Amino acid sequence: MIRLSGIRKSFGRSEVLKGIELTVGKGEVVAILGPSGSGKTTLLRCINYLERPSDGTIHIGDFVLDCKHAGKKEIHELRQRSAMVFQQYNLFAHKTALENVIEGLIVVKKLNKAEARKRGIQLLEKVGLGAKLDAYPSQLSGGQQQRVGIARALAMEPEVILLDEPTSALDPELVGEVLAVIRKIAKEGITMIIVTHEMSFAQEVANHVVFMDGGVIVEEGSPAELFGRPKEERTKQFLKRLI
Ligand code: ATP
Repeated sequence: MIRLSGIRKSFGRSEVLKGIELTVGKGEVVAILGPSGSGKTTLLRCINYLERPSDGTIHIGDFVLDCKHAGKKEIHELRQRSAMVFQQYNLFAHKTALENVIEGLIVVKKLNKAEARKRGIQLLEKVGLGAKLDAYPSQLSGGQQQRVGIARALAMEPEVILLDEPTSALDPELVGEVLAVIRKIAKEGITMIIVTHEMSFAQEVANHVVFMDGGVIVEEGSPAELFGRPKEERTKQFLKRLI
């Protein structure tokens, strides 16, 4: 289970997260929606400490991190428990697909090379890239690169995978293949938090939907509740603009 309590983040004088409270059950898929600038990406980055929250606590499983007092050791532990999938894939350009996936297995998980290779191949097969093990990112389509990014996140066996608009950099015809992989891993019961603009996907895959605006969670609920019976005016307006 993941629990965020009182997460705040300021950039200079501007507070972009204003006390976020969110609980995500094991195996749940949570979609975070909201207008541009509402703080969705910042929240995701705070959970992995790519941004240091100004305040709050992050619980992942039995691990608790108090943002006011976290040191290197706690941050390292947090990052072992959460893995990020980035909008722009963030693969190492000079490494092959397989090398990108096994890097963390060797460096962080301390697997030997043969074990890491075996696991890396399994994961790339899982995301449909068994034939592209030795391809470099520049030789892969955006959709394929993002699937390598997902395999790399899975390799760490984190308690939660954080996906930041995983399809928004893709040409429309490549979105489907990435969503199919996410759908497949969701079915395996992997806990995920996804920032997405893909409403129909959120509706289909998420168990829980969160609507953010102005650095706060305005409303949250099941897809049926949030999309079908939104309570807050801001949510209604946001959804109306998308139709
Ligand atoms: P989008 O849907 O456009 O990606 P978002 O909801 O993910 O938006 P964030 O990227 O989290 O929003 O940004 C929230 C606010 O924080 C914005 O006003 C943004 O300009 C600001 N912000 C984000 N990162 C930084 C930074 N590193 N330095 C200063 N301001 C930042």
